[in-house]
Amino acid sequence: MIDTYKHKGQRRLLVQALEAKGITDEKILDAFMEVPRHLFIDGAFQHEAYEDRALPIHEGQTISQPFTVAYQTQLLALKPKTKILEIGTGSGYQAAILCAMGMRVFSVERSRPLHQKAKALLADLGYAPYLHCGDGSLGWPRYQPFQRILVTAASPGVPEPLKLQLETGGRLVIPVGGRQRQKMTVVTRLSKNEFETYRYDNFSFVPLLGKHGFEA
Ligand code: SAM
Repeated sequence: MIDTYKHKGQRRLLVQALEAKGITDEKILDAFMEVPRHLFIDGAFQHEAYEDRALPIHEGQTISQPFTVAYQTQLLALKPKTKILEIGTGSGYQAAILCAMGMRVFSVERSRPLHQKAKALLADLGYAPYLHCGDGSLGWPRYQPFQRILVTAASPGVPEPLKLQLETGGRLVIPVGGRQRQKMTVVTRLSKNEFETYRYDNFSFVPLLGKHGFEA
């Protein structure tokens, strides 16, 4: 696993591009500077690793655009050591960013090959999130409640189990809409039965497949 000065220089340019697009949180920018995105991308696309775009990974899935990763992370409004559940581990890049920021990370991936690949890579890089292979639209009941939940796949609605696995005051960031286009949505749990919802910009994610997602 090689991380050169050239890669670091490319990361610096990427961070500048993210700043120019409105990402202001220093901790997020520092994490983008630290995590070697090229190692989460396979050979053919590795030279594009530090361009601000989504790229294909295995199993027909994608590693999200860096701006999207930063945007969702900023909406999470994280505090030190926040306990966070990510749905859609994919390549493991977003989980690595959260680990680099010092968060307590739990992440669920539906695809076993992706889960295994991310598990090996994250361990090699020295990050230690809790990883699980299964239907993340059900959350991860064993480790609830979570202070934050982040969904990195498009959902037709806000899955009830995810809302219920938030602690009071907790926040869920999820792209909600059709298969082509979604609105970034933030749900805050105000009390046992009260939730507040805000909608932000449009995005285009691969679908969340599962019981509370789209049909596989
Ligand atoms: N966060 C990832 C990263 O940093 O590389 C990118 C996520 S990719 C845009 C969406 C991921 O969600 C895919 O890996 C897909 O297999 C996964 N996914 C789809 N439905 C899921 C479900 N019900 N539970 C868990 N993961 C799911």
